[in-house]
Amino acid sequence: MYILNIVKITLKAVTVFLLSMAVVMLSSCSNPSPRFERYLGTVCFVNLYEKGRPDYYDEIFDRLKQIDEEFSFGSVKSDVYRINAFAARESVHVCDDVFSVLETAKKISELTGGAFDVTIEPLVDLWRINSTTPHIATQDEIDARLPFVGYESVILDPALKTVRFAKDGVKIDFGGIAKGFAADEIAKICKKHKIKRAVIDLGGNVYVFGVKKKGELWNVGIKNPEYPDSAPLIKVSVPQLSVVTSGIYERFFEKNDKRYHHILSPDSGYPVENDLYSSSVLCSNSMVADALTTAFFVLGREKSLEILPAVEEGLGLDIAAVFIAKNHSVYFSENFPYSKKILYSDWRIHRAHE
Ligand code: ADP
Ligand code: MG
Repeated sequence: MYILNIVKITLKAVTVFLLSMAVVMLSSCSNPSPRFERYLGTVCFVNLYEKGRPDYYDEIFDRLKQIDEEFSFGSVKSDVYRINAFAARESVHVCDDVFSVLETAKKISELTGGAFDVTIEPLVDLWRINSTTPHIATQDEIDARLPFVGYESVILDPALKTVRFAKDGVKIDFGGIAKGFAADEIAKICKKHKIKRAVIDLGGNVYVFGVKKKGELWNVGIKNPEYPDSAPLIKVSVPQLSVVTSGIYERFFEKNDKRYHHILSPDSGYPVENDLYSSSVLCSNSMVADALTTAFFVLGREKSLEILPAVEEGLGLDIAAVFIAKNHSVYFSENFPYSKKILYSDWRIHRAHE
């Protein structure tokens, strides 16, 4: 029998979410007016603290609504819908938002050897893991869809802002990157209004903005994968930064004691099976962090750490990573620059390359 965890998660979303926020705000003192609404398939939470004017919140949530519309699968007017429907036959003109996310997606695909792949949609659609009707794909079904997965098939024209697919059957899915993009856009609005401090949490895609009172660092929690609704496993203390985690404990279904989660291997077509519960990325760019968490989960710890310097160079960004393994080991990338603490005594920190 299927255990539809997605449904469970939806029902508990607000509770769980507020719990996680309690963590983010561990050492903050005032919380007068946070706001949350549902966009991009998740609960989007923003706290502007003392600058929490209604018109600023309205601007932020209007922007989220706009991004949701541009990236939504459901609406025939959305750019994503038009790309998937027509880009195999003709060049499709898209808005600046979708074009810039596609450019970053392609770049990250290149830097991660295709571990992150925005053309994963034929496989996402086959498994339907995020839906109420998940399906265990057969090898034949996977073999039939794998030829359509490959970021090289996405042809972008920066001058005309158009997208074209090299062949029929290719489709894109922004599930692994859109929330990060949205978090960056909210941070831009905060910057524009000179907001001193803000917490942005789009379903675990966290961006802590500005500095807290007295110049303190933010404490951000990384969930305990075995008890995601309880206290976090790790606490990291960071300046303005995005902290994003991809794990196998949020969106999955189980059948016959086997767990099928939502991070898919573009090579094999199956949910990735490795020794990890989750991968987290800390970076000033939330869109990059979002896509990289997915890529690093696909690649696994060793390969991710091996390519990390080249990824940092390729993107011109400082990137730190955390891997939580099923054997209760936590690995931080080399020279991890933030102070960190494990909050459970039965988990251990290991050296990155151990
Ligand atoms: P979450 O959505 O829980 O934040 P992720 O950021 O890891 O988690 O995104 C997972 C989503 O990304 C999946 O639900 C799917 O839509 C898409 N996806 C799955 N595997 C890949 C992949 N290898 N490359 C790019 N996107 C992926
Ligand atoms: Mg991601």
